[in-house]
Amino acid sequence: MTRISIIICARYKDCGGGKCFRALKERVGAFSIYPAGELVEIVGYSSCGGCPGGNVEYVPAEFKKNGASVVHLATGLVVGYPPCPHIRRFKAYIEAAYDLPVVVGTHPIPQKYMDIHEKLPFWQESNMAALAKTLLAEPVEIKMAYN
Ligand code: SF4
Repeated sequence: MTRISIIICARYKDCGGGKCFRALKERVGAFSIYPAGELVEIVGYSSCGGCPGGNVEYVPAEFKKNGASVVHLATGLVVGYPPCPHIRRFKAYIEAAYDLPVVVGTHPIPQKYMDIHEKLPFWQESNMAALAKTLLAEPVEIKMAYN
């Protein structure tokens, strides 16, 4: 059983999590790392608290109390405009302070966001392909299905 917790970007704090929950069920996006037969449970869901992400310092403690075995930083951090500048720091901090692995991404990147980001210079500079490998490597058909 993998117990998943999710931190979303506070710019989308009213998000109902529709794409994330769908993606977990379909095992696509960053959730494709969990085989279809593997039992998974969402044990925590929160926002970063707003720039510069103060809630990231505290909310993983609550996730851990609920048995979280992994933290996912939601896809909105990766492809919101602009992408969150703190993704690397959040990942490093949570892994060091809470000893929980951090996966960058949740649901597939909607293709319409890819179309814009690929025109922008800072997308290349951010080396997002290395940071969110699973999301970036996903077939375009899946990204289209999440538009
Ligand atoms: S851009 Fe980053 S720090 Fe700012 S609200 Fe979004 S996740 Fe939080």
